[in-house]
Amino acid sequence: MARHQMNLFIHAMDETQMNQLKQVLELFHQAQDVIELTLRGERQLPRYGNRVNWDQMVPEIQPETPEIYITGDGLADNWFTHTHQKIAIISMRDWEVAFLDDDQYPIAAPDANLLLSFALVIFLILINGTDYDVVHERTIGCLCDLCAHKPDRAIKMRTAFICNRCRKLASQSGVSAVELDAIQAVCECVRALALGRTPQTHAPKAQEDVLDNFIEDSILPGKITIPIRLMEACREKRVTVVVGSGLSLQNDVRIIYGDKFGWTRLPSWSEVPQRLSRAVKYYRNKTIEPRDVETLEEFLTDLDYFRTVLGEKMYYPRAIFDIFTPKIENPGLANRLIYRLPIQWILTTNYDFVLSYSAPPGTPVFTWREAMQAREYIDSGNYHPPLLKIHGCASRADTIVLTKSEYRQLGEHAEYLSLMNTVFQSQVVLFLGFGFSDPLDIDSAIRQAELAGAAQGEKFALLPIEKANAIQEKFANIHVITYEQHDDLPKIIAHLVKNTGGH
Ligand SMILES: [Zn+2]
Repeated sequence: MARHQMNLFIHAMDETQMNQLKQVLELFHQAQDVIELTLRGERQLPRYGNRVNWDQMVPEIQPETPEIYITGDGLADNWFTHTHQKIAIISMRDWEVAFLDDDQYPIAAPDANLLLSFALVIFLILINGTDYDVVHERTIGCLCDLCAHKPDRAIKMRTAFICNRCRKLASQSGVSAVELDAIQAVCECVRALALGRTPQTHAPKAQEDVLDNFIEDSILPGKITIPIRLMEACREKRVTVVVGSGLSLQNDVRIIYGDKFGWTRLPSWSEVPQRLSRAVKYYRNKTIEPRDVETLEEFLTDLDYFRTVLGEKMYYPRAIFDIFTPKIENPGLANRLIYRLPIQWILTTNYDFVLSYSAPPGTPVFTWREAMQAREYIDSGNYHPPLLKIHGCASRADTIVLTKSEYRQLGEHAEYLSLMNTVFQSQVVLFLGFGFSDPLDIDSAIRQAELAGAAQGEKFALLPIEKANAIQEKFANIHVITYEQHDDLPKIIAHLVKNTGGH
């Protein structure tokens, strides 16, 4: 059942607007199930000329259940929304001005605009605040940007995230991680619509009893032994799991791409250049085949080339979105089991949403850009192990760390480096899902540790047997645990969960 119920009243709406509202409400409720909006009928509102006068609307006594008014008219002061504690108004008029700087906007642009308004006023209602409590004068892409220059609102729709300051403000006002997640889920939907994509409407439902049974019945596949030191570190909550692309390629992970490129599975890391090459053909109508590369340096340099050809701000974000955000039908056993381990952190180099959708409700997701926020969350003695996407998240191109120049940028981010340093120095690291088919992916993950100046902590890696020797030779200080088949991996994680105090 929804935790929050809010009442909606409509005012001066024509039929088109009404249909649009209904459509957006559907998206809103598909995106999350924490906040429920209920249409309660029509209300008269005070006017100034032919516009709604918000200043006269704020009563002395606030209603018990929050009230949101949707008007088909403009507001007297030209704002899109206003909120005062439990009362809010949203205008559906003039959304086109948000897209004045765009030569073309997606069909769902008005939906994105209205949904964004809902996300904002509900955020403010939850913190019991008013517009000026949170507003950013400068456009940074946060939900709470003022966007005095109206076309900036389109930027806000494409980034649609809640910045560190606003998250912190919300937590201080007693807003829970689950509630923030719900708003963030609505923001994800806004972003997809504004990018002209079909949003993934809801996370696949977790079947916890299936996991319980799997853990209960799990038997470690023959021949495999888990080092005692790893078991101990797990029991003492000193293990950080670092997850690589192999986990998104497990046999039971089910995803669906749109028709555009005809892809059927997420790429392994080494397949990314091929995918970018397809995107170059599609968006730029150029044929550029990836080269054969031997070193990580060459690989990353080539990716930069594709990034430049696609256009850093133009088609590169779209290509990243195309490649890494298929709809996730089932995130698979191994990904879900990771959250059952007795750990403080889950780090991943993956850009996709498989691990995000595996997470229990209320799990905060941070990218390296939110390193400070992530540290505060950990320090605050939290309830859920957070997911830290150390190479960024596909839905926010400004966070992606894939190419050489993007690595360089990451290497200059002091808060991130300091966080990694803490993690890698105080924790035993267990690498999962690396080396399935990629010769270089673990190099990249290890580099993260070295970048942070903390290469000396104890490290373990679960690796497919055919890769083990090569990796062991390259990284003598990693304790390699080998297994034979993809399907062994969930069994090994389940064994760890069962025998180290997981749940
Ligand atoms: Zn903000």
